[in-house]
Amino acid sequence: MHELTLANNILQIINQQATLQNDGCVREVEVVVGELSGVMIEALKAALQAVIKGTNYENTLFNLTEVKAIAECTNCSAKVNMETLYSQCPQCHNMHLDIMQGKELFVKSITFE
Ligand SMILES: [Zn+2]
Repeated sequence: MHELTLANNILQIINQQATLQNDGCVREVEVVVGELSGVMIEALKAALQAVIKGTNYENTLFNLTEVKAIAECTNCSAKVNMETLYSQCPQCHNMHLDIMQGKELFVKSITFE
């Protein structure tokens, strides 16, 4: 399961940061999930809950924020809000859109107690 691998990666990042902070308690973790990253927020939330069981992060609050996918049309430069990877430009119906944001998935911040 894709989300479980991601959840484990996120946990690793938190672990590394916690070690740098002398194993301080992690209060909150902010994760940014692009609309086109292929990750279901609900599935990632469930996976995170599963991987933190029995760890120091059981009481950590995971804040998952979805980022809208925005692309620029290579033909008319219109900014397009992409709903799928196969969206087309609403103005000129060009299929070639440069994705500017929305494919990313990263840990934005980690807050320690
Ligand atoms: Zn266009």
